Amino acid sequence: MTASRSDAAVETILTHLGRAPEEQFGFVNTPVYRGSTVLFKTLADIEAQSQRFLYGRAGNPTTESVEAVITALEGAHRTRLVPSGLAAITVALMSCLKAGDDLLISDSAYEPGRKFADGYLTRMGVTTRYFDPRIRSGLSELMQSNTRAVLAESPGSLTFEVQDIPALAAAAHAGGARLIVDNSWASPLFCQPLKLGADIVVHAGTKMFVGHSDAFAGTISTTGAAWADVEHVRSLLGFFTSGDDAFLVARGLRTLAIRMKEHQARALDIARWLQQQPGVVKVLHPALPDHPDHALWKRDFTGSGSLFGFILEPAPRDAVAALVDHLTLFSMGYSWGGYESLLLPVKITRARTAVPWHEDGNLFRVHIGFEDLEDLKADLSAGLDRYRAAR
Ligand SMILES: *Cc1c(COP(=O)(O)O)cnc(C)c1O
Repeated sequence: MTASRSDAAVETILTHLGRAPEEQFGFVNTPVYRGSTVLFKTLADIEAQSQRFLYGRAGNPTTESVEAVITALEGAHRTRLVPSGLAAITVALMSCLKAGDDLLISDSAYEPGRKFADGYLTRMGVTTRYFDPRIRSGLSELMQSNTRAVLAESPGSLTFEVQDIPALAAAAHAGGARLIVDNSWASPLFCQPLKLGADIVVHAGTKMFVGHSDAFAGTISTTGAAWADVEHVRSLLGFFTSGDDAFLVARGLRTLAIRMKEHQARALDIARWLQQQPGVVKVLHPALPDHPDHALWKRDFTGSGSLFGFILEPAPRDAVAALVDHLTLFSMGYSWGGYESLLLPVKITRARTAVPWHEDGNLFRVHIGFEDLEDLKADLSAGLDRYRAAR
């Protein structure tokens, strides 16, 4: 199946795109290509530089098989696979910025991206300011003549504010800046930021694309206008993703649609159940009707992800420990997107500067995997009992 059929249904794209069995002796999958050196037959060939592959660092058939799928799903001009979600963010930012420029980042954005801006871009002469994730068209008031990039993450993966991508895009473009959106939560199945006006979409492929907690990857998909700058920076920095990792991404993508459907239904089931539990003050899930951004989510998304938050009545650290230290199915860990359920206590204070986090109580982030739902509820229920007993 070629890229020209990328208007096919999502499930069909995920099953057929990026495979060429006739080029692989009939084997169904594009194999792992490992290789640095690519050979040229003649002096004319090396002078022409027109072979499909010139040197392994720019990619190979395995990495291209992944890029083709994400390009089709995002409705992008092209996509580049990079070694991690963080690399996708840093390359995307650097593709827009030079010394003397200004950057605006949503206050809910992934914290290591903030650290890159504050700890590295500052040294390179770029200023960074943070904005209220719910600012919508108010962003235009923050735009300066030197603002060249806006980074949004919708919803924020700790606090779950949905951002108004069309409004942010309009404000960014009016000021001559590009809008970068981290779309890891929804995946391109449930949101396509380029169609909403974004210029660059990044994914932590590590999460939903890989889906099994066993590899790192990131993707950067762009409009035609933004592509050259992204690919230029990526190649200058020498970022390369191995065929082995690309193969794991490709394998994960084949089941992305059915996994997302299951994650969505299961996460919503647990979110609604949590709303009924004593001691739960709030459940932060944009697909729930009482979420403050529910209308925006409904307008711009066609589904919801595996990840959401909840807030428990205030209690000391010992109560949090009583909850998380004795769980039998949920485990604690960074990352998410795998088959296994995770629960993480979250401290938000450090990561907020534009709009301080005012919620009373303890915030937790959950990723709902594929265990039996009643088993998961029993595990959480016992944890909530321990929390309340330790208050
Ligand atoms: C995990 C994550 C990233 C970073 O991905 P890595 O592959 O871990 O570098 C970026 N954005 C979001 C929303 C994430 O959850």
